Amino acid sequence: MKLKAKTAIVTGGGRDIGQACALKLAEEGANVAINYFSSSTGAEDTIAKIKAAGGNAFALQGDLNSEANVDALVGKTIEEFGGLDVLVNNAGGLIARKTIADMSLDHWRAVMDLNLTSTFLMIKACLPHLKSGAIVNIASQAGRDGGGGGAVAYATSKGAVMTLTRGLAKELGPDVRVNALCPGMIDTDFHNVFTKPDVRKNVEAATPLKRQGTPADVANLVAFLATDDSAFVTGANVDINGGLFFS
Ligand code: NAP
Repeated sequence: MKLKAKTAIVTGGGRDIGQACALKLAEEGANVAINYFSSSTGAEDTIAKIKAAGGNAFALQGDLNSEANVDALVGKTIEEFGGLDVLVNNAGGLIARKTIADMSLDHWRAVMDLNLTSTFLMIKACLPHLKSGAIVNIASQAGRDGGGGGAVAYATSKGAVMTLTRGLAKELGPDVRVNALCPGMIDTDFHNVFTKPDVRKNVEAATPLKRQGTPADVANLVAFLATDDSAFVTGANVDINGGLFFS
């Protein structure tokens, strides 16, 4: 157990990648606080699984676009567990596919808020408590390659998360390491909602490892970046895409 007696916050821990991260960090011994927005049943499931395995966890509902909700999550974490060592900024999304010609200012702002501003708010609220430890941001391959059709706002927001990661690695070292993941196609609701099945098949076929990633694949890398196994890694944006794209 590489995170025994440590505490982690995972945003969006009620399903898919966030749930897998919460379970993996708990498996490594961490007390885990998760946020969820709409997935209350999924969040209950995450907490039940962690507790059944002998771990400590709680879930708090909140829209991470709200500073008050962010502060409530961090405050409850400190109250329950007495400190903080790991922050995983996982919550995020595409919202809708829109080309720049069809994009309203409201859509642009909503995507930036969900992926970038929520990450900023979480990091800012956690910093007074994060004396040492690790921040892991979930960016995207889209941040490198500009994204698929109608994903330019999303790709831009994830590119900004990657830059934030590099800048904060310099600002917060040597005490806090800051890294990000750039996942390619991971088999979650994200693509169930936004990507056609034939596109997913084509991506699989073009991927050297001939499959989509799983939430557990991502969670394993998050755990590596959250523990001392990656003690000399900071400011990295790590690809996890089955070899589909080389940066
Ligand atoms: P997902 O299934 O669509 O899950 C999105 C997560 O974000 C959910 O946990 C959701 O919470 C949370 N969320 C959405 N709006 C929120 C808000 N306003 N406040 C708080 N939480 C909110 O996506 P996923 O595939 O697991 O993706 C997780 C992360 O990986 C995202 O940042 C995504 O951009 C990134 N990513 C995914 C892929 C992929 O191929 N799947 C690739 C690259 C990057 P609720 O369910 O509780 O509403």
